[in-house]
Amino acid sequence: MRVFIACLGTETNTFSSLPTGEQTFRDTSYFEGDATRHAPTPFTQPLHIWRKRAEERGHEVVEGLCAFAQPAGRTVRRVYEDYRDRILAQARAALPLDLVLVNMHGAMVAEGYDDCEGDLLARLRAVAGPDTVIGGELDLHCHITPGMLEAATALVTYKEYPHVDIGERAEDLFRLCHDAAEGRTRPAMAAHDCRMISMWRTTAEPMRAFVADMKALEGRDGILAVSFGHGFPWGDVAEVGAKTLVVADGDAAKAAALAADLGAHLWAMREETRPTALGIDEAIDRALAADSGPVVLADVSDNAGGGAPSDSTFILQRLLARGVRDAASGLYWDPVAVRFCMEAGEGARLRLRIGGKCGPDSGEPVDLAVTVERIVANAAQTFGAVRNRIGDAVLVRTEGGLDLVLNSVRTQVFHPDAFEAVGLDPAAKKLVVVKSTQHFHADFAPIAKEILYVAAPGAIAPDFAAIPYTSRALPWWPRVEDPWAE
Ligand SMILES: [Zn+2]
Repeated sequence: MRVFIACLGTETNTFSSLPTGEQTFRDTSYFEGDATRHAPTPFTQPLHIWRKRAEERGHEVVEGLCAFAQPAGRTVRRVYEDYRDRILAQARAALPLDLVLVNMHGAMVAEGYDDCEGDLLARLRAVAGPDTVIGGELDLHCHITPGMLEAATALVTYKEYPHVDIGERAEDLFRLCHDAAEGRTRPAMAAHDCRMISMWRTTAEPMRAFVADMKALEGRDGILAVSFGHGFPWGDVAEVGAKTLVVADGDAAKAAALAADLGAHLWAMREETRPTALGIDEAIDRALAADSGPVVLADVSDNAGGGAPSDSTFILQRLLARGVRDAASGLYWDPVAVRFCMEAGEGARLRLRIGGKCGPDSGEPVDLAVTVERIVANAAQTFGAVRNRIGDAVLVRTEGGLDLVLNSVRTQVFHPDAFEAVGLDPAAKKLVVVKSTQHFHADFAPIAKEILYVAAPGAIAPDFAAIPYTSRALPWWPRVEDPWAE
């Protein structure tokens, strides 16, 4: 059997003014066909798994481009077309192919392409032919589109948010597609639009049970895979929104019926699963009133993983105005401030302008007298089983005793070691602010006294009723109370 593997993705916040071009891919994850010869990252991990599983069965593996960009605005057209066309040329050169596996995001939008994954899969189908099994792994923050369903043999999304199951889902997709390529199954897919736009945290009930239910349905009664695509709210495309997706063996009607059942279940849980968040001062009050720390405040509106700039100062300004000490905050994406600190050196005291540089969603920049406590070039943090680059990182301390971590590669906080990398122990602080929506949860929960989600202003403030879509045709909750009424 001949197997082709590749990766192309990003999560596009179409409301963001930050362009996604070649540099963003190169800063995040970019390999010209040798990703599996390097240590796995969150973006290359599926390719490692697919190669291993294929080779242990004696199959021949051809590896194509692996490019993934930290979320931001629309991908530059020529960059998307160049990457796509390289993958197509690599697949064409590898023909004939029995199996094609692609790691994608599912919410990638480029200039001129609202559905990059649908476009890529359709072109791969044209290259590989009708009999080749084509499988795609998607982030659960995806737009599941008719184009993707039409072109792929099977799609599988992550089930967990935080995404701690990227590797497990890669294993699932391999097994499913390998069975199909060997003729043991005939996957048929169906999706159901839940008419909901929201976010679901799978760390708490009732979503924990929903994830367990999805897993329990798989592998019996002809059900090959069950996914819940939560959707990515900040993509202004026709197919934005939550969708359930089922792959059944040879029976599209069965897949459609189960997808609708699961959608009804999610609809019934909508109020219970609606993500809660506090105002900035309310959250600070609760943290200060706690007996001990750390109380972790999640700045969900400035998560780089959702295309936000990661340099907003709304919470920082309140911490400063209220004279909060014994607190830490990061990661502020501020390559200019990092450069000044590196120029000045460890121990230097300087006046530094921090954050607020990318646009109105960043808030006002803050001018502070700081001491440069620590500088680390090429730092990294842990994300699940792999490492994530944060670039050059600097710890600065304000005169008021606030510790801030600034970095040069835009990314969210995944793990306490994003702070530990610059010699700061977040467990020893009373209050810790992390710029992340939910991925931080997996590794901060064990050290946190309490976790509070904060709805500060910002690029991805969690107000789903107010997102100004121009492309979605169907009504959605919570914009309307009952989108099924009409
Ligand atoms: Zn995601």
